[in-house]
Parts: sequence; structure tokens; C-alpha cells
Amino acid sequence: MVSRVIPVDEFDLVIFGGTGDLARRKILPGLFRRFLAGQMTEGSRIVGAARSDLDNAGYRQMIRDAIAEFGGAEKDDAGLDGFIDRLHYVAIDATGEGGWSALSDLVRKDVVKAFYFSVAPSLFGALAERLHTHGIADADSRIVVEKPFGRDLASAKALNDTLATHFSERQIYRIDHYLGKETVQNLMAVRFGNVLFEPLWNSHYVDHIQITVAETVGVGGRGTYYDTSGAMRDMVQNHLMQLLCLIAMEPPSVFGADEVRDEKLKVIRALQPVETHHIVRGQYDATDDAASYRTDVENPRSFTESFVAMKVNISNWRWADTPFYLRTGKKMKGRASEIAVVFKDLGHSIFEGDTARHRNILAIRLQPNEGMDLQVTIKEPGPGGMRLIDVPLDMTFADALGEDSEPATDAYERLIMDVIRGNQTLFMRGDEVEAAWAWTDPIIQGWEARNDVPKLYDQGSAGPEDAMMLMHRDSRRWRDIKS
Ligand code: NAP
Repeated sequence: MVSRVIPVDEFDLVIFGGTGDLARRKILPGLFRRFLAGQMTEGSRIVGAARSDLDNAGYRQMIRDAIAEFGGAEKDDAGLDGFIDRLHYVAIDATGEGGWSALSDLVRKDVVKAFYFSVAPSLFGALAERLHTHGIADADSRIVVEKPFGRDLASAKALNDTLATHFSERQIYRIDHYLGKETVQNLMAVRFGNVLFEPLWNSHYVDHIQITVAETVGVGGRGTYYDTSGAMRDMVQNHLMQLLCLIAMEPPSVFGADEVRDEKLKVIRALQPVETHHIVRGQYDATDDAASYRTDVENPRSFTESFVAMKVNISNWRWADTPFYLRTGKKMKGRASEIAVVFKDLGHSIFEGDTARHRNILAIRLQPNEGMDLQVTIKEPGPGGMRLIDVPLDMTFADALGEDSEPATDAYERLIMDVIRGNQTLFMRGDEVEAAWAWTDPIIQGWEARNDVPKLYDQGSAGPEDAMMLMHRDSRRWRDIKS
């Protein structure tokens, strides 16, 4: 089987913040892989734009170095020159007037035009306005914006209003890179492309659903930013809620941008407010050889959470009585992102002496080893009679699909190709983002009003003990995070 790569239309992609960390680590190495795959049509160009005083040659060298450092196994010296030739640079200050006419001269009228705002959100307004006043963007141009999309409902609304001044919603691509992950898209293929799952996808058959995004790293160099954000804003409001929506949504009539996003929005609107005792906040503690969260963020009195676990209920017919348990944290025992759909027990076992609780579990792994497994109950092999054991039917994509699994394909490159194709299905719509903040805001405001102190947890653990209790109280338990 050979993977089919369909070239996208010829484009000019301008990356504001083209010298920044995201551009060098993710966007440009990703575009290079798409170039190597043959997806970038001849003539397509990428323009880096930032304040740094560089010319084309200087920028090309910067990106050569970035690809050497972050490009991974896909580095292909023969292809690299061809890709580097596609790069241009314009020195521009988002808030000033210099450089804009040079950009205007460079960007062509007759190709797909996309403008990636890989800069601080405070610059979005200035960029949007100048793109408009200098006549660089037109009604078909696409604008790509990054998280964080606001830090509460009011700021998200303000950002939406700023962008809406010059661009229509169908031009705006709000990136949540979790939606670009292969497994997340596969979740929809599995759910809606098979007769097997959809009849069981409801509270009659599903006991509960767990969504875990565990990281082993701490705040790294993002301490100052992270301390003003925390796990709830940085992970739950966007990534975990997007995953929850895709699991919980009703089948859209077609796999189209508005159809899918309408269904996701209905899920967010059906989320019940979370009760205080259904949330656990945590902060990682110091060990003998590793600093605490507070030391990492250089804020000895920080009350910001580096971990959160919560029980969420959805008020609709499909999910009444099926809780969703979400957890995410830093410095945990393993790096694992997983959605587990835990089906109900059989009401009765016909096998004598079989008292174990056998459960079918569909586990969708986002990382590591992207894939799915379905836990099923079978007879233990051998002559010992009808003893039952639970085994996973494993479908690791790299094994099942071999070379076609494209393991190195990153979420960013898929999403950027969708921008060029004009497909918004995997991007968040403005009303979705606002609805997500409207649900998250009261939780965060409650913590702030109470000066809520997060529970300390050991680095390398599964989070605070109270997070275990959240499940135990319901006679359930978290799935193990593999170290
Ligand atoms: P960064 O490393 O600080 O880069 C910021 C970029 O913006 C640089 O290229 C900088 O270049 C440019 N810039 C700053 N002020 C400017 C101005 N007035 N006019 C024009 N360009 C200006 O930030 P980053 O990590 O790449 O993040 C970019 C955006 O992506 C942020 O909104 C961030 O929250 C988001 N994001 C980043 C990551 C990540 O992994 N890095 C992940 C998710 C989301 P000059 O200094 O040369 O102007």
C-alpha cells in the first residue's frame, strides 16, 4: 500500500513570528516534510516575517539550522536545498509601518494566501489591521492563530472581535494541534466508519470515559507564562475539551467543518458545571534532585496548578449517567495521552467460578505508539477449563500500516495543509472557544476567590492522592500511566 499525497494548490504562506520557537521547532520542519512528500506544489513559497534584521540568506540559514536540529529522521540533504529556495524573509514590526510595502510587493494575488500569526496574541490586532490597510490580505486569505486563544471568556471575545473587524469566520483557523493528531482523526473514522461501535456509544453500554494527558516534563523555559496560566487554561480548556467533544458529539450529517463544529458546540453547551469536590488541583513537589514547581516558576507563593483531575457530566440523552474523568499534569510518571472508553460489565457470567470483573475497554492512544487497542475477554489457552482472561486486541498504526502510517507526520503539518486546502473541520470556531471559556471561567474564578491551594504531589507519580479518591469514591480507578 502506498500513501496517497495530494498536492495542495500553489500558495504564499507568511509566518509572522517566523524566527520564533514555534516556527523553527514545528512549523518549518513540518513544512519541509510536506515538501519532501511532494505536497507543496511547485511555485509555493513561505515568507518569514519578524523584527530581526535578516535578509533572505540569513533567514534561509536560520531555517537550515532549525531543520538540522528539529527536523528529526526526515532530514534529507538532497531535498533541503529545494525547500530552502522557497523561503523568503521580510523584516517587519507588527506595530510599526516599516516592511509592509515590501511584504505587499512579495505576496502574490493569484495564489492561496495564508498568514500565520505565530506571535503573542497582543499583536493579532496590529497584524490584522495592517494586512488589511496595506491591501495584502483579501476576502479569500486565511489567518492562522495559535493558542492561547484568550485567558478567559472576556479576552477570548475581545480577540474574536479584533479578528472579526477584518476577517470573516470562514477565514480564521484557530489551531488546536491535538485535532491534527492522526489518532484523533482516526477516532472519528473508527466511531463513524464502523457499524461496531456507534450502537454501543452511549450510557446504556459505556460505564465511563477517561481522558489522560500526562507529561513527564515540567514547565521548562515557559515558567513565567505557565504560572499565569496553569493546567486548566493551558490544557483542559482547549486540548482535553476538544477530545471530550469528539468522543461525546452526535454524528454529524457529513464530515464537514460546520457540521462537526456544530456538534462539538452542543457538547460544550451541555456540560454541567463541575462541583468543587469533583476537581482536584495539584502542584509538583521538590525531590532530592529536582526542584519544586514553585522553584521552577520562581514564584515561592504560587497557587497555580500543574495538575488537574476532574469528573465531568454531560446533560444529554446519550451521556446522562456516564461520567467523563479528565486528568492532565506535568512531571508525572509517564508521557501518555489516552482516551479510554470503559464499557459496562456483563450483567451475568455463565462461566462457573468466574467472579472477575471483565470489561471491554477501547483505548485510543495519542502518544506514545499512536494507535488503539480493544480489551476483550477470551479463554485462557490450555487445558485448565474455562478460565477467562482479558487481552488487548492491539492496533498500533505503525505495525498495522507499516510505512503508510507516516509516524513522523506531525499535527502541525497536517493542519497547515488543511489551511491551504481551505478545510476548517479540524480548527476551533469562535463560538466553540467562547463556550469552552464560559464553562471553564467559573471553575477558575472559584479557585481564585477561595485562594485555593493545590495539593502537592510527588514527581514521577500519577498525581495527588485525592485524584485517586475522585475515582475510588465512584468505585472506579484510573488506568495506569506507563512509566
Ligand atoms: P517566540 O519564540 O517568543 O517567538 C515570537 C516571534 O514573534 C519571534 O519570531 C519574534 O521575532 C516575533 N515578534 C515579536 N514581536 C514582534 C513584533 N512586534 N513584530 C513582528 N514580530 C514580532 O514565541 P513562540 O514560542 O514561537 O510562540 C509564538 C506563538 O505561538 C505564541 O502565541 C505562543 O503562545 C504560541 N504557541 C507556541 C508554542 C511553542 O511550542 N512554542 C506552542 C503553542 C502555541 P523578532 O523578535 O525577530 O521580532
